Amino acid sequence: MTSPSCFESLVKANTFASLPSDFYTRLPTTPLTAPRLVHASAEVAAVLGLPSEALDTQEFLDVVSGTQPMPGGDTMAAVYSGHQFGVWAGQLGDGRAHLLGEIQGPDGSFEVQLKGAGMTPYSRMGDGRAVLRSSVREYLASHAMRGLGIPTTQALSLVSARNPVRRETLETAAVVARVAPSFIRFGSFEHWAARRRPDLLRVLADYVIDRFYPECRDESARTASVSDSKTSHVSASATLTQVVNTSVSEAGSPRKDYEPYVQLLRAVVRRTATLMASWQVVGFCHGVMNTDNMSILGLTLDYGPYGFMDGFDAKHICNHTDSGGRYAWHAQPAVAHWNLYQLANSLHEIVPEAEPLKAALDEYEACFLGAMQARMSQKLGLSAWQAGDETLIDDLWSLMQASHADFTLTFRQLAYAPGLTQASQAQIELDLGGTVNANLLPFVDLFVDRAGAQAWLSRYSARLGSDPTQHWQERVAGMLAVNPLYVLRNHIAQQAIEAAEKGDFSEVQRQMQLLSDPFSARAGLEAYAAAPPAGAPHLEVSCSS
Ligand code: AMP
Ligand code: MG
Repeated sequence: MTSPSCFESLVKANTFASLPSDFYTRLPTTPLTAPRLVHASAEVAAVLGLPSEALDTQEFLDVVSGTQPMPGGDTMAAVYSGHQFGVWAGQLGDGRAHLLGEIQGPDGSFEVQLKGAGMTPYSRMGDGRAVLRSSVREYLASHAMRGLGIPTTQALSLVSARNPVRRETLETAAVVARVAPSFIRFGSFEHWAARRRPDLLRVLADYVIDRFYPECRDESARTASVSDSKTSHVSASATLTQVVNTSVSEAGSPRKDYEPYVQLLRAVVRRTATLMASWQVVGFCHGVMNTDNMSILGLTLDYGPYGFMDGFDAKHICNHTDSGGRYAWHAQPAVAHWNLYQLANSLHEIVPEAEPLKAALDEYEACFLGAMQARMSQKLGLSAWQAGDETLIDDLWSLMQASHADFTLTFRQLAYAPGLTQASQAQIELDLGGTVNANLLPFVDLFVDRAGAQAWLSRYSARLGSDPTQHWQERVAGMLAVNPLYVLRNHIAQQAIEAAEKGDFSEVQRQMQLLSDPFSARAGLEAYAAAPPAGAPHLEVSCSS
């Protein structure tokens, strides 16, 4: 290191700290005993502008373990509220997260947050700590999603320590350093709406718009000039807590000051809808889609009892605590809409008319379906969506459901389904990561109903024939680039956890490499591509973390 501090030159003013102090509490982290670096990501460090050499320094470990504050930073915990499992839970907040500060990276600025670095005023009954088990899962999942190209908070480092942490049993303490442009949640908005503080809600909305959605002001200027010519409807439900703020634009037409907040909702609706499509097409289940776990930036946030599906079941529930299946795979898009509805409800405190908010929410379905169609076309190697594709895809889901066919392998192997390519057996086995061999047909042998799979393939083959532009090699290359071979299956993550709990971090390292590019097959790592072995113990993953 040439510089005495790896962080100092990069840290800039923590803009979240420029908000009124109602939004957070300044407080130090609580250091752990003998923290050890399990892993640090050079890729995420680069996002921050930190050179990889910095990751080996004592200063880095001190900062990411919560032993020392980040030089130039401003440590604080944020307050928010939320709906948990559909029920208003009141105030929650960063019960075990500390925002250290903001770093100006080469392509933007990012907040660095520690999870598990001690209690805060928002800890409620919790101990402010996180255990190694759940921290390995969050760390690996952040990278898995990044590797899949799915918007997510990122993970810079994982630290473990001697401190025992009591959950169902005594476990090892750990801290994950997370990185995102912002950790603001839907629940951050709900907090001020519930407290009837439109002034602070407006401050928060303005902050989010100015920093992350500046186009909402431009959009609002454009739509204002169009909509101002129409009669404005004030919804009957709008028992107004605010006076409608109108001003007169330069052109002389009335301009609604709240229009940017409507545009903000529209933007969040679009990002969230797209995020849901990204989750659905890789079989990712979040597990705890409470409104306090929904990022205002449309990032995947707060990895707990998440899961990538093995065998397909539309009603798959990854969270053992979610006995009613509120957050099952098939329910996720609708739950996201419900969560957006809560956000809209909160914004209603500063947007007196309900209609524009409803209109923004109504964009969700088309946006989600459009994003699904685009992704499913790519997954199936179709150059464009056509009438009839919906039935073809629905029938594939039904086949997968009937056989509980492996989610990831179904799409990966479809590229090389029998009769669709002239590829050599060696090439097929290589690209499919050893999940097929001379005795196992790609795709077809994933189904109990092989005849059904063959019949579906005939229709698919005919559909490919109507796609004039593509040569099979081009189609296969496109499909292999969007259908991952490696996802973070629970039993794979479990191997990394068990090794790490014994002090062996090599498995975390190996999986990090694999997940950084989940589309390229690696020789010798066949077990990571395969479905869990038959009879493998069922892993129950719950909210305990
Ligand atoms: P989660 O379900 O992990 O999103 O957490 C919901 C709420 O509980 C958030 O306010 C967390 O900060 C808080 N929380 C979870 N675990 C702990 C813990 N061990 N100590 C303090 N707060 C916690
Ligand atoms: Mg949370």
